[in-house]
Formats: sequence, structure tokens, C-alpha cells
Amino acid sequence: MKRLLLLLVCALLGGLLWFHRARAQFIAGGVLVNLGYRLQDPLEDYDLAHHEVTPAQVWSEFLEQNREAAAVRSRWPRSTRHPVVALVTCMDARLDTNEIAGDTRRYYYVLRLAGSALASKDGEMLQLAVANGVKVVVFTTHTDCAAEKVAADPGASGQYPELTRAVRERQARFDEFLALPLIQGKIKANELIVKWVDLDTMNERVTPR
Ligand SMILES: [Zn+2]
Repeated sequence: MKRLLLLLVCALLGGLLWFHRARAQFIAGGVLVNLGYRLQDPLEDYDLAHHEVTPAQVWSEFLEQNREAAAVRSRWPRSTRHPVVALVTCMDARLDTNEIAGDTRRYYYVLRLAGSALASKDGEMLQLAVANGVKVVVFTTHTDCAAEKVAADPGASGQYPELTRAVRERQARFDEFLALPLIQGKIKANELIVKWVDLDTMNERVTPR
């Protein structure tokens, strides 16, 4: 009786897993990626050997790591996807766009800009991405942003005038992008969603405005 019950539970779990196999596979992949982060994160020295590294040692380690990573990619090439999301984020190193999306697949155009400040060329690039099939544009600004701090600090803003101007004009540039005829047309036709979200730098959780 017990064995029959166990068999029944296993069959039920197996059936559930089969039914949700894509989701289960996606989550298992995420778990393994996080396992990799847990393995690499505690390694404190950039070149895995020296506490203090010279620019030459950093450059040499960068080339070595790239060589290893490229060898892995040559052996196991990854699939390319047609991106459906364009993600705009600041260049802050604490932000990892794979983590923000919770997804390592290549469904994302990523635009990393100092202070998430769009210049005209970036607006045009986003427009091109939308013309090529992007369905959602996620524009992010984040907590503890160094660019925002510079713009808000009278001492620092004089030293970085262009960065300051870009951050102060960020809203206006975003509004200009939103007003582009192609963008407006796609939004009205329900073919595009554009969102501005606040991003928590520490856990990368987004809060739509
Ligand atoms: Zn920032």
C-alpha cells in the first residue's frame, strides 16, 4: 500500500514537472548560475593571487579570463534570440542586467549609460530597437547613484559639468524619446510599453513609477 502511494506521488510529481518543464528547466538554470556566483563571489583578489595589483596585472588577468571565457563559448556556443526588451541602466558596477531580468538568455538589448542619461544617439538606438521588434522598454534609475550625487553636489558638479547637465536633463530626454512619432504610434497601437522604474541597487528589485 505504502509503495503504491509512493509510486502515485512520484507519478504525480513527475507529471507536474513534465507539464511545467520549461519553467522547471529555467529555474534549475537560474539555480546553477547562482551557484557559480556563490563560487566566484568570495574570491577577493582580482588576479586570484595578489592583494595589490598593478594596471599591467589587471590587464593581463583580463586577457586571460577573456581567453578562457571565449574558449568556453567556442566549445558551447549560445543561442541568439530576437530581443523583446530594451533595458536602460546606469553603468554602476553593482547592477547586473542578467540579475535584474532574472534571465541569462539573449532577449535583452542593454543600454548602459552614466546616470541612465539618454543622449540623442541613444534615443535613436532605442527607436531602432523598437522598429526591430522590441515590445517593452524599461528605463531604470537606481538608488545611491554616483552620477546623481555629482549632479546634486555644488563642489563636484563644477568638476563634471557634462555629467551634471546630462543628469539634470534626464527627464527631458526621456520625455523626448517618449514623444517620438514611432514610439507614440506603437504605444497607441498596443505594440509597445515604455516604463520608468526605480531600481534598488542592493537587491536589484524594480519599482515601477
Ligand atoms: Zn548610477
